[in-house]
Amino acid sequence: MQEQLNQIKSKAESLDLNDSLKSFRDKFYIPLHHGKEVKYFTGNSLGLQPKSVMDYIQIELDAWKTYGVEAHFMGKNPWMYYHKMFAEPLSKLVGANPKEVVAMNTLTVNLHLLMVSFYQPKGVKRKILMEGGAFPSDQYAIETQVKFHGGDPSRDIIELIPRSGEDTLRTEDILQAIEDNKDELALILFGGVNYYTGQLFDIQSITNKAKEYQIICGFDLAHAAGNAELHLHDWGVDFACWCSYKYLNSGPGGVGGVFVHEKWHKNTELNRFAGWWGHQEETRFKMQKGFIPMESAEAWQCSNAQVFSMAIHKASLDIFMEAGFSQLKAKSRSLTGLLWEGLQLILKNQSANPPFRILTPPNPMDNGAQISLLWLNNEGKSAFNQLTEAGIITDWREPNVIRVAPVPLYNTYNDVYFLIEKLSEILAQTN
Ligand SMILES: *Cc1c(COP(=O)(O)O)cnc(C)c1O
Repeated sequence: MQEQLNQIKSKAESLDLNDSLKSFRDKFYIPLHHGKEVKYFTGNSLGLQPKSVMDYIQIELDAWKTYGVEAHFMGKNPWMYYHKMFAEPLSKLVGANPKEVVAMNTLTVNLHLLMVSFYQPKGVKRKILMEGGAFPSDQYAIETQVKFHGGDPSRDIIELIPRSGEDTLRTEDILQAIEDNKDELALILFGGVNYYTGQLFDIQSITNKAKEYQIICGFDLAHAAGNAELHLHDWGVDFACWCSYKYLNSGPGGVGGVFVHEKWHKNTELNRFAGWWGHQEETRFKMQKGFIPMESAEAWQCSNAQVFSMAIHKASLDIFMEAGFSQLKAKSRSLTGLLWEGLQLILKNQSANPPFRILTPPNPMDNGAQISLLWLNNEGKSAFNQLTEAGIITDWREPNVIRVAPVPLYNTYNDVYFLIEKLSEILAQTN
């Protein structure tokens, strides 16, 4: 075992040495544990703070201080147009045209606003297909939208669960479920990456199938934005939304993001819960009656820009743009690949009595940064606590899962090695 661990160690060292993105770690504050930087594996839950954040906020505080209300039109980034700075970087991250994306509100709120437009039950066509075990907020949003339309959640929501004995959904089963329910589906609403298992769904195939039967198809990309490679426009996804505080490092409660495919931009039939910032820009300040939507994703905005949380988002997105998403994705695959290799080594060594099983699908096309370990004995919580005590920050999800997500902007290959070494030490003690 020690020899194989040493092999992983020297592999990690050489990968760190040759990592063209390694300087990016310096752009983040790494929390300390007993005076030493932690090994932070919870960027899937709350990304770390870019050191530049304070300067970005300071610019807006100064604009407010200096110009008062005039800061809407004066200063470095006039607030009147503030939200527009996000069109370009967000479009690159999710694979969209700049007009198809907008930064606004927060995730669950956006999910509701989008369902107002894109969940239109009619006659027998009133069901929503979703993944079983979706993040609770999504479950509540969908349940209450169904009730809002006078529906019955137990009848109108189809939650797909994996085959018995399996941990994740097979794409073929998702496509079959669409086929089986095609006449009754009003909406397909899936996650991009499931928060619990780390499974990345095949967004393209699901969307293609939905298109065959003209079923509207949307995605919650909370765990996919800034993590998975996305081509929302080309795939023909109808709508999507995400939050910015996970892989996008934009702070707690940070501004969310929305994608609406351009094919919907000129549609005047859509229901909306509108506000002034979605109104046609040229006449927005004429303060007249009658809502005229902008012909872009901006039409879904209700309120004026959340400048301070957007300032943080801008600081983070500038780092993403500097690093380049394809480079980040390549490093992410390699980091998670090393983690995978180390975990397999541990499992091989414990094969007589495996302490955990990996829930996350092995194929890099079916996962993102995160790997989820389902504990098979009662030692999971204790292992998690011992990792934390050693300065290795992972997260514990009831009833018995440890999630580990190395992220390419600030994790090192050595962080991954450290986790593997510590985990095998913990397991050697318990056995
Ligand atoms: C993190 C997360 C949320 C949280 O929603 P907020 O409205 O930002 O609090 C919702 N859905 C999913 C799938 C998530 O991963």
